Amino acid sequence: MVAPFEFATAQRIVFGRGKAESLGEIAAGYGSRALVMAGRHLQGSATLHRLEQELSKRGVALELMLSHGEPEVAEVDDAAARARACGAEVVVGLGGGAVLDLAKAAAGLATNEGSVRDYLEGVGTGRTLRVPALPFVAAPTTAGTGSEVTRNAVVSSRSEGFKKSIRSHLLLASTALIDPALTDSTPPAQTAASGLDALTQLIEPYVSLRAQPATDALALQGIALAVRALPRAFADGADAQARDELALASLLGGLCLANAGLGAVHGIAAGLGARFGIGHGVSCAAVLWQTMEANVRALEERDPQGPGLARYARLGEALCGRSFPDPRDARRAGVDAVRALVAALAVPSLRALGVGEADLPVAVRESRGSSMKANPIELSDAEVEAILRAAL
Ligand SMILES: [Zn+2]
Repeated sequence: MVAPFEFATAQRIVFGRGKAESLGEIAAGYGSRALVMAGRHLQGSATLHRLEQELSKRGVALELMLSHGEPEVAEVDDAAARARACGAEVVVGLGGGAVLDLAKAAAGLATNEGSVRDYLEGVGTGRTLRVPALPFVAAPTTAGTGSEVTRNAVVSSRSEGFKKSIRSHLLLASTALIDPALTDSTPPAQTAASGLDALTQLIEPYVSLRAQPATDALALQGIALAVRALPRAFADGADAQARDELALASLLGGLCLANAGLGAVHGIAAGLGARFGIGHGVSCAAVLWQTMEANVRALEERDPQGPGLARYARLGEALCGRSFPDPRDARRAGVDAVRALVAALAVPSLRALGVGEADLPVAVRESRGSSMKANPIELSDAEVEAILRAAL
């Protein structure tokens, strides 16, 4: 029997080098007033200038907002208010995952009541979006988050110390436009952090409790692309082939996580981000192989006959690009391959990021968010703490 599943994504996905040229034309197809949310680093860039020109050529009135960093509650509420005030008929997000999340949440909130805080999982009032969001066009400028095809937006509160999602199928983008050329100028450290986030978002859905046939196929393809392209894009940012493959891997990761969930790496990373202000990609990268190793050990001890171990063996083969006669060797080789990749990409340790031994209990407590629920096996507090200690 094939287990039931659901697969939902952006209404339209446009992928290709140079496709950003049509961003204005696509956005104009949704209305004559646009709220454009762009990454602050794009101010004065040719990409943003072209978008503005293309919109005005088509008679689209434009309200521009620039943003930097992971969105806060007040920022989302403000963006939604501005969308309403200018009568926006379409919201365009152009930037990294944080910018896309901000634009996505604003598009959803603009047509619904209340503050975004009311809708956040775990901290809100349990409110859900009822009215369809404004059409949302998402164009990522980093290869990693896959936010252009996910149905959630991550919103933080530094004062309250949380980082939570607003989630609804109504938040899925109308058009996701992925132009790998927009990622060409990403510096090496950012390429590594976002690229390892993409890899994590392919690995975790593949071993997730909610894994399903549609995402399995995409995950295995994406993992092969990511492990090949990531070291090349890191070493030479001008390697267009590597940039293209990494952008595709990132898109596939987004499709996977939106439909099969994540796991302990993202659970732990959410806590590290909220409590210690560590960027999302770096947080994931810093604990990735340690979490894989802990999951394999826990599955060997407590669920040796379950599907999790077989998945880790197949994952190891995908990561290494070859088969292994003994599944134990495949599982070990997968963990080792990720460990070597993380080291080659110079990912800082948690200690270098400001986390110390005394912080571990808080980090454990903060790891129990929604991502953790899809982890292939329930990890004890002691096991999560051991992952963090190994990542110090
Ligand atoms: Zn992620």
